[in-house]
Amino acid sequence: MSDNPLTAPWAGSYGGVPPWDRMAPEHFPGAFDAGIAEQRREIDAIAGHPEPPTFDNTIAAMERAGLMLDRLERMFAVARESVTNPAYQALEREWQPKLAASSDELLFNEALFKRIEAVYNTLPASGLEPQQVRLVTRMYQHFVRRGARLNGADKQRLSAINQELAARFAEFRAKVLADENTSTVVDGGQVIANTRSSVDPFLTTSPRRELREIVWKKFKSRGDNGDANDTKDTITAIVRLRAERARLLGFASHGHWRMVDTMAADPETAQAFLLRVWPAVLARVKAEIAELQAIADRDEPPVTIEPWDVLYYAEQLRKATYDVDEAEITPYFELNNMVSAALWSAERRFGVSFKEITGTVPVFHPEVRVWEVVDTSTGAHRALFYLDNFARPGKRSGAWASSHRTQYTMDGAVTPISSNNNNFVKGAPGEPVLISLSDARTLFHEFGHALHSMLQNVTYRGLATTPRDYVELPSQLNQRWLLSRELLDRFARHYKTGEPMPQALVDKIERASKFNQGFATLEYLACAIVDMDLHTRPDGVEDISTFADEALARVGGMPREVVLRHRLPHFDHLFGSDSYSAGYYSYLWSDVMAADAWQAFVETGGPWDPETNDRLRRHILSDGNSIDRAEAYRRFRGRDPDIEALLDARGFTAAVR
Ligand SMILES: [Zn+2]
Repeated sequence: MSDNPLTAPWAGSYGGVPPWDRMAPEHFPGAFDAGIAEQRREIDAIAGHPEPPTFDNTIAAMERAGLMLDRLERMFAVARESVTNPAYQALEREWQPKLAASSDELLFNEALFKRIEAVYNTLPASGLEPQQVRLVTRMYQHFVRRGARLNGADKQRLSAINQELAARFAEFRAKVLADENTSTVVDGGQVIANTRSSVDPFLTTSPRRELREIVWKKFKSRGDNGDANDTKDTITAIVRLRAERARLLGFASHGHWRMVDTMAADPETAQAFLLRVWPAVLARVKAEIAELQAIADRDEPPVTIEPWDVLYYAEQLRKATYDVDEAEITPYFELNNMVSAALWSAERRFGVSFKEITGTVPVFHPEVRVWEVVDTSTGAHRALFYLDNFARPGKRSGAWASSHRTQYTMDGAVTPISSNNNNFVKGAPGEPVLISLSDARTLFHEFGHALHSMLQNVTYRGLATTPRDYVELPSQLNQRWLLSRELLDRFARHYKTGEPMPQALVDKIERASKFNQGFATLEYLACAIVDMDLHTRPDGVEDISTFADEALARVGGMPREVVLRHRLPHFDHLFGSDSYSAGYYSYLWSDVMAADAWQAFVETGGPWDPETNDRLRRHILSDGNSIDRAEAYRRFRGRDPDIEALLDARGFTAAVR
């Protein structure tokens, strides 16, 4: 094992850097075996410790355990997502279940749990600091939530459920993927793939109504065709297994189990939140559809708007009303300038400096750029930032942030290593890369996630991860700096003339940003409502095919022209894994906080206000999960988030007043 380059602690400057230059598929099996074995030795030593359990010999020791496996899983995530190939895909199929089994082994270790429980039970008289109390409490609750207190037979059943669920998730993903790998041939041999990135542009631009209907119906029927790829039985099984697991663990439903560790805390709170937004959105959508219908009425012959017509007529209206042409915007958004803009904005707001060090540390692809982040006043090292901007084969689609090393200080400073991953399209050789408004927003969004991890300052790595309904706050908020005037003046300069983006164009962009938000929000919101209803049924559901319509009827029904953004038979957030089940509401929950947090800047000195930025850093960005996130938000804002800011930002307030 000694010659495996992945098993050693990371070497080099900055507290060590990932050895991307030596990462290869053949090293992972041996390294995973070594990592699992090391973790097992560490856990056995803690569980079998001869002294009575204490914070130091149990909880702190757990914080130090499994570090090799943690490094390997983070590197493997990059292999899977950024530079994959058939060898990595085969490793994924083989090792995901083995890694899950290793995690179960740890959680079900009775001697270990008894020691954690003993420390937990003596907390009131322990004299531990608040951070330590929180760490112990969270660790104990995590074990309990995952079944540590069950008897042997129930643990066995739980393990079987977890394994069957993992298999069902894979089955669901494979079936939907098979339906997405089909296509429709339309005009002149043009092929429309059965995926959103292909279907939506067609629905937006094609005047051929009968073809729009065919393409739309095929897309909305993924997983729902009564053939070998129909997912309805798979989903029914998943929902039933989840309900059984929740019962076994002593929870009223899967939703209650999933939501224990979120800001919303329980399904009732999340559902009430969704229903508060619902009437304003519904009112806005009705107004939007009336506008579209007025255009469709002038068609020859007149058209009654159906779901497959919405995007087409919305585009007609957008062109006529807002007159924003993407081609007018992109010349101002040269990629390297916008990267500099994002970094500059952080430097100005948070007292850090970015120094590019590309070429001096290993990278996982030659196009990756790297910066060292230092504290401007002291020059002290704070973080590394990797940026991988371009699409290529072997890299998954979309944009995401990841963390190669999380910050903590328990045994001396461990500094964070973060990365942002985009899928921008490269320009011709020698030409500047110009990005769209939406790409520029994505760049700032992902950079908000990176800032969240790079500015983190916590003692224990067990208090780093924030709840699912909090994580999009730093990113959604950071997007709002993109169109600030000072930033545009410096960085959004026309690539030929050097002129900054004119304010008239910025105003047009801002006006258009409220366009069709009723429709977009409703198709999302309906999904979130169905998700929560489905996952609070204590016994699962009898007939999944009618469930969504019934759930929406319970809240008053949907306008005929709007359909769920994700119908249940292909709702990957819910059935591709557990991660967003009973959690689809999280996006809107975070965005309410982001819109309200932005108001804190509007109400004070604007986006660069030092005092507000300082509070943002202290309470929202740097303290991980050291205190309850709702309390952290109150410390930043002086009160709970107010939903009005979001309704305003999306243009809904006029509709209800
Ligand atoms: Zn995000």
